[in-house]
Amino acid sequence: FSGCVNLTGVLTIRTTKPFGESTVSRILELVENASEKKARTENFITRFARYYTPIVVIVALILAVVPPLLGAGAWSDWILRGLTFLVVSCPCALVISVPLSFFGGIGGASKCGILVKGANYLETLAKAETVVFDKTGTLTNGTFNVVAVHAEADVDPDLVLSFAAYAETYSDHPIALSVKAAYTGEIDRARIKDVKEESGHGVRAQVDEHIIAVGNEKLMMADNIAWHECELTGTILHVSLDGSYIGHIVIADVVKDDAAEAIASLKAAGVKRTVMLTGDREDVARAVAEKLGIDEYRASLLPQNKVEEVERLISGTSSKGTLAFVGDGINDAPVLTRADIGIAMGAMGSDAAIEAADIVLMDDKPSNIARAIRIARKTMSIAWQNIIFALGVKLIVLILAALGIANMWLAVFADVGVAIIAILNAMRCMSVKNI
Ligand code: ADP
Ligand code: MG
Repeated sequence: FSGCVNLTGVLTIRTTKPFGESTVSRILELVENASEKKARTENFITRFARYYTPIVVIVALILAVVPPLLGAGAWSDWILRGLTFLVVSCPCALVISVPLSFFGGIGGASKCGILVKGANYLETLAKAETVVFDKTGTLTNGTFNVVAVHAEADVDPDLVLSFAAYAETYSDHPIALSVKAAYTGEIDRARIKDVKEESGHGVRAQVDEHIIAVGNEKLMMADNIAWHECELTGTILHVSLDGSYIGHIVIADVVKDDAAEAIASLKAAGVKRTVMLTGDREDVARAVAEKLGIDEYRASLLPQNKVEEVERLISGTSSKGTLAFVGDGINDAPVLTRADIGIAMGAMGSDAAIEAADIVLMDDKPSNIARAIRIARKTMSIAWQNIIFALGVKLIVLILAALGIANMWLAVFADVGVAIIAILNAMRCMSVKNI
C-alpha cells in the first residue's frame, strides 16, 4: 500500500508510475499546504478579525449617526469622527505582521539548515522543556568502526565477518552499513534469500543453505543460542550460523563533534531535562551520556519501548512545557509523531523519520536544536510585540478619535504607520546572524 514502510523483509517491486503521480505524494502535498499548520497565535488573529471588523464598523456608524440625532453637535463633526475611528481601527497591522513574523522565523531557520514544516511548530518548540535524543545517528555519527572480530575457537574470523556482511546486505541500519564497509570482498546477492530485519534486535537471513542471525543478545536469546560476553566496551554484534554461535563483532561509534556543545547550549537556553533513549547496551549508553553531560538515559529499548518512555516523559513535563524528540531512524518515526515536536536528522536520517518529523535538521548537527529553539522564541516574542504594540496604539487612538481629540493624520499613522512599523519589526525574524 502507498505510504507503508517495509521494516523487516525484502520486496521485489516493479514501479509503474513516477513518484509525483502517486497517491501518497498528492496527500503529502495536501498536508504540506494545510492551513491547520497555522500557529495558535496566527489563528487567534484570524478569529479576532472576524469579530473585530463588524464590531468597529457598527461602532463607527453609531458614532457618526447617533450623537447628531440626539442634537449633540453638527453632522459634519460626528461623521468625521466616525470616519477617523474607522481608519484607526483597520486591523491590517495585526493581520499582516503576525503571519509575517512566522514566515520570517521559518525563513531565518531555513538559512541555518533548519526546515520547519509549519508555524505551529515554532510555537511549540519555543516552549520546549524536555529534549529527548536517540543515540545512534543522532548524537553519534552512526558510522561505526569495526574494532574487533572475536571468533569462537575453531572458526575463522573472516568467516564471521563475511556471514555478517551477507546477512546485513539489504539493511540500511547504520550498523549494517559499517559491517558492509568493513567487509572487503564482493557480495553476491543471488546467494541471499529470506531476509528478515527485526527492529532493535538485528537481522536473520538465509545465505546459501545456512541460516545466519546477526544482532544483539535479545536476538540470540530469541533463538536460544548461548553467546559469549565481550570484555570490550562497544556495540556487540553476535553472529550465529545454523543455530550455533560462531563469534561476535565489536563495533564502536564516535559522538558527533558538536554533541556536547549541543547539550550545553540546550541547558543554557533553559531546557530543564535532557534524556537519551537507545536500543544499544547499557555500558555504551552510560559512556555516551556521561561524556555529553546528558541528565538521564535509558538503554536496551525496543522501538515500542521508546514510545512508552516518551509518553511517560510527556506526562512528566509541566502543563506549559513541551517535549521534543530528536531521532534519525525508521524505528524513530513513531516516537517522532508521538512527541509534542519531532526533530529529524535530514542528511543521514531515513525518509520515514524525515516524513514523520515536524522539524528537519538538514546538516544533522545537534547544536542546531538549541538554535532552532532560540529562533522560535525570538519569533514568538516579535509576534507578541507586534500584537501588543498594534492593539495598544490603536486602542489609545480609537478612544481619542471617539472623544474628537484625534485628527485624521493621527488616524492614518495609527493605521498605516503602525502597520509599517510592525512589518519592519516582523522582518527582524529573518535575521539569524547572532543566534
Ligand atoms: P538506537 O536506538 O541506538 O538508534 P536501534 O534501535 O536502531 O538503536 O538498534 C538497537 C540495537 O539493535 C543495536 O544496538 C543493535 O544491537 C541491534 N540492531 C538493530 N538493527 C541491527 C542490524 N541491522 N544489525 C545488527 N544489529 C542490529
Ligand atoms: Mg537511531
